[in-house]
Amino acid sequence: MIVFDLQCQDGGETFEAWFRSSSDYEEQRAAGLVQCAVCGSTNIAKAPMAPGVPRKGGIEPLARLAALQSEILKESRWVGERFATTARAMHSGEIPPEQVHGQATLAEAKSLVEDGVAIAPLPLPVVPPTQLN
Ligand SMILES: [Zn+2]
Repeated sequence: MIVFDLQCQDGGETFEAWFRSSSDYEEQRAAGLVQCAVCGSTNIAKAPMAPGVPRKGGIEPLARLAALQSEILKESRWVGERFATTARAMHSGEIPPEQVHGQATLAEAKSLVEDGVAIAPLPLPVVPPTQLN
């Protein structure tokens, strides 16, 4: 997967989109499948890369955060409601440590932290894989 900064040629909005490859992007754009996330225009081009220049468009920080989170979670295993038990078992050495993520209640999270188990909240909610189609 590859992420491109795209720019709407009608409204000037910039947004990010994921594609399988550079040629996948070209094909989808040619077929009119790449749309502006704001106005729906298919008049889209790659945004000029200009670090440090403020961009227009309010959705970008969230998109960037989402991309960052999916990067983190790529190496992580979903354990769902067993998160607290799994984190605790790794902490006590019962099972080998690995990167996991899942659901925990506030009380579970609190007691994990109190017991010195290293956990961190994710910036965005995660859809459990079982709920994905
Ligand atoms: Zn637009």
